[in-house]
Amino acid sequence: MPTNPPAPTVRVRYAPSPTGSVHVGNAHTALFNYLFSRRHQGRFVYRLEDTDRSREVAGAAETQMAQLRLLGITWDEGPDVGGPYRPYRQSERTSRYQEALDRVVASGRAYRCYCSADRLAAMRAEQAQAGRPPRYDGRCRHLTDAERAVHANEPHVLRLAVPEVGETVVSDLIRGDVRFQHSELDDFVIQKSDGTPLYNFGVVVDDHEMAITHVIRGDEHLANTPKQLLLYEALGWDPPLFAHIPMLLAADRSKLSKRHGATALVDFLEQGILPEALVNYLGLLGFSPPDGREMLDLDAMCQVFDLARVQRSAAVYDPKKLEWLNTQYLKAWPAARVADRVRPALMARGISPDAPAEGPPAIDFVTAVDMVRERAHTLVDLAAGLAFLYAPVGTYDPAGVAKHFGPGVAERLRDLAAALEETSDWSHDALEARYSELAAAWDVSRGALIHPTRLAITGTTVGPSLFACLAALGPALVVPRLQSASAWILQEHSEPKS
Ligand code: GLU
Repeated sequence: MPTNPPAPTVRVRYAPSPTGSVHVGNAHTALFNYLFSRRHQGRFVYRLEDTDRSREVAGAAETQMAQLRLLGITWDEGPDVGGPYRPYRQSERTSRYQEALDRVVASGRAYRCYCSADRLAAMRAEQAQAGRPPRYDGRCRHLTDAERAVHANEPHVLRLAVPEVGETVVSDLIRGDVRFQHSELDDFVIQKSDGTPLYNFGVVVDDHEMAITHVIRGDEHLANTPKQLLLYEALGWDPPLFAHIPMLLAADRSKLSKRHGATALVDFLEQGILPEALVNYLGLLGFSPPDGREMLDLDAMCQVFDLARVQRSAAVYDPKKLEWLNTQYLKAWPAARVADRVRPALMARGISPDAPAEGPPAIDFVTAVDMVRERAHTLVDLAAGLAFLYAPVGTYDPAGVAKHFGPGVAERLRDLAAALEETSDWSHDALEARYSELAAAWDVSRGALIHPTRLAITGTTVGPSLFACLAALGPALVVPRLQSASAWILQEHSEPKS
C-alpha cells in the first residue's frame, strides 16, 4: 500500500523591524505564531527585518526580544539563539537577495527603471489630481534594447513586470479567497537604486529559504500578499500558506495608537498588568477557545489554538476587559506569587516591605497581600493599597478630611488611642467588639469612630475592613498614628483660614 509522504514540519515566523519597543499589535502577531507552532509541534522562527537602516533604533532588536520573553513567548530559531537557517538578520543576508534578484532579471520578469524621482513625483501628482490611484505608468517596461543601452550606466531601480491581464488569488486560511486584479497592481519596485531589496522581495526570499510553511501576520499586509505570490511565481518557488489575522482596533474602531493610551507592551507592564494576564488577553483578541473559557495560560492556549477559530473582522481592544482579567489573576493566584510580583511596584514607590520606615506591621507580607488584593485591579493598585502598612501616613485625603475630621474628632481620636493602648486582644473580632463598646459608652455611632480611624491610620477613606487594618498594623503603629492625626487636626483647626 502506498504511504503518504510525511507532512512537512510546520514552520512559522515573526519578522519585526527593530524600530522601537513592541507594540501590542506585534505582540499579538508573535503570540499567534507561537501558539500555532506549539499546537502543531512546529518551529517558530524569529527573523529581524533590519534592512531599513534609517528607521532602525539602536538596541531595539534586543529590547523587543526581551519584551516578548517577558510574556513567555520563545522561539526555536532566531538572531539570538541561532538555528539551521541562519543568519536571521536580513542585513546579513544581502548576498542571497542578490542571487534571487539576478534570477528574476534573467527570467525577464523584472526590468530596470531609470525614471527620475522628479518624473515619478510629477506623475503621482497628475494621477492624484485626476482622482486616479498612484501607479507607475510602465514607461521603462517598454524601452527598446537601443533605448536601454543609452541608459546602461545610469542609476536605476528594479521593478517586477506584473502580468497585464488576469488576477492573483490569495487563498487565505482565515479570510478565504481574496482576488486581486492585475490591472490594479503596480509594477512594484523590488530593489532600490542603492541595491537594497524592498520588503516584498526580501520577505519572499527569506520565507522560501527558511522553509516557512505558514505566514501568519496582521491583515494590514494582505495587500502585499498578491505581490509576494507573483514573486514566488517569478522565482519558480511554491509559496507558503497565508493567514492574515485581524488588526487591533481601539474602541472607536480607529487604528490603535498612542492617543488611546498604552500601546507598547512595556506600558501595560508599567501600569501593573501581569504579563500572564496580558498574554491571556492578547490570545483572546480575535480568537475564541471552543469551550468559551476566558482564563487560559500559555500552555492551555497552545492546546486549543486553531486558525479556524480566528475571526475575520477586526478585534477591538478593550482596556476594561484586560483590567478585569488582570483582577482575576490577582485574586486566583496563590498570595505568595502575587507578593513576589508586587514587590517591584512597591519599590517604585520607595517602599521596602522588608525594611519599613516605621517598623514592621503585625502581619507578614504574604498575609498583607492577601488582605489587600481583593480590591486591586493592577499591581500598581495593590502597591498603593499596601503602602499604609510599610510607610508612614504622609497626607490625609482632603475629601476625607472635610468629611471625617470635623469638630470634636481630635479629642475622639486621642481617646481612642488611649483606649486602644489598654486593649490587649488585637484580633479582628476583638477589635470590632471593642469599637462597639466604645461607641456605646461615648454615645456615638460606630461610623463616627470607624471613619476617622481609617483616615488616621491609612490616610485614605477606602480599603479592607477597618478591623483587619488595625489588626494588621498592630498597636505599635496604630496608637501613634491616632495621636498624630489628633494633633494634626488640632493644629489645622487652630490655624486661621486665609
Ligand atoms: N517587518 C514586517 C512587519 O513588521 C513583517 C511583515 C511580514 O510578516 O511579512 O510588519
